[in-house]
Amino acid sequence: METSEGGLIKLPQPRLFKFLPDGSGGIRQSTYSQLLQFPMIRINENYLKLKASYLFADIAKRVNEFTAANPDKSVIKLGIGDVTEPLPEVCVQALHDGADELSKRETFKGYGPEQGYAFLREAIAKGDYSDCPISADEIFVSDGAKCDSANIQEIFAEDGLKLAIPDPVYPVYIDTNVMAGRTGENVDDRYQGVTYLECTPENNYVPAIPSEPTDLIYLCFPNNPTGAVATREQLAAWVDYAKANSAIILYDVAYVAFIRDESIPKSIYEIPGADEVAIEMRSFSKTAGFTGTRCAYTVVPKKLQAADSAGNKHSVHGLWNRRQATKFNGVSYPVQKAAEAIYTAEGQAQVKAKTDMYLENAAIIREAITKLGLSCVGGDNAPYIWINTGTDSWAFFDRLLNEAGVVCTPGAGFGTCGEGHVRISAFNSRENVVTAMERIAAALA
Ligand code: PLP
Repeated sequence: METSEGGLIKLPQPRLFKFLPDGSGGIRQSTYSQLLQFPMIRINENYLKLKASYLFADIAKRVNEFTAANPDKSVIKLGIGDVTEPLPEVCVQALHDGADELSKRETFKGYGPEQGYAFLREAIAKGDYSDCPISADEIFVSDGAKCDSANIQEIFAEDGLKLAIPDPVYPVYIDTNVMAGRTGENVDDRYQGVTYLECTPENNYVPAIPSEPTDLIYLCFPNNPTGAVATREQLAAWVDYAKANSAIILYDVAYVAFIRDESIPKSIYEIPGADEVAIEMRSFSKTAGFTGTRCAYTVVPKKLQAADSAGNKHSVHGLWNRRQATKFNGVSYPVQKAAEAIYTAEGQAQVKAKTDMYLENAAIIREAITKLGLSCVGGDNAPYIWINTGTDSWAFFDRLLNEAGVVCTPGAGFGTCGEGHVRISAFNSRENVVTAMERIAAALA
């Protein structure tokens, strides 16, 4: 075969020939020139709009460099938000019992219901929503709040949807919408199609209601990364806003088990009418140390409706049910048994003991940071402490690493408004937290 320059080139491998639609319902083999036009299967170009997140890779690189240069110095990691305490005993026992059931023909389980076993859905409804208008069949058990918060957006319109997303933010909310092509281009660290809900020292890290209408609103309280919580009045204002705009709130309460202030709502459904405008996501990851075990759930009330392009209303519950039944296989039986055990009296006591331990760590961190004259939020109803460093967040990170051997997370990695802040996580042993704070105090004093 001759090229336009007259030279000879080898024919492409036969597997490069493809069958293309012939325009009348049939197929035909592609020609070489068509292959040049469409050389291979094309990617979802929305992925190219993703802002590369080097946050944890950058942290690891700097920590490795420090360790290589200081082999005799220990590093305490208070950066990544993973739990360190083992599973509650009731959960371990239930996992064993569940596995035993799978070992016998009479009690063996194959595919389970995609929405979760009734025993767990009922335990959740009774344990978490006894004061809210939520029933067991509105609860969808899943393998993670990360997956649910990532997947839920696919049941809403691909284009024309106005998004409201906090800054700083748990990155999944924004990145999954970028992947779906809803956000527009990134210009100066801001996706053009997103209304950013800025969380700043001025608003005590609880964002103001936007002045313009939006459709899909992501809220997370207790917040990752700031640890801030929303009051009943603040949540009620969001519910009113969502109603006024026929919008839907995605309310992520992955850290609900850390709320100790009785006046702070644990569920958005404590606000009257929220079941008409909100989806709530919770997780056993941080509640009961299930980050490796995997179990979470999403509440999609039956009252929730959204419109098609002709203005006809549809049940969001029905759409999510269809999505899960089609794409999700459910959570394994022993893991659901383990999650159910959390709702026993013993389970509740064990979960409280573990979350209390982390909250005591958080109090130690807060006290040490405040003594240094730095202001911080979080840590009282959340496992994260958000420190206003008054300086570049990576510079502060480097200082803590090099002078104290402590790893935190630079706020800039969570969004533009995270600059000037760092996140310290209370997920570690008491000993490590105490030592880390002593070292920070000595280094920054
Ligand atoms: N939502 C928030 C706000 C989180 O911070 C995290 C984990 O860090 C998750 C959800 C993920 O939860 P899961 O482990 O259930 O996927």
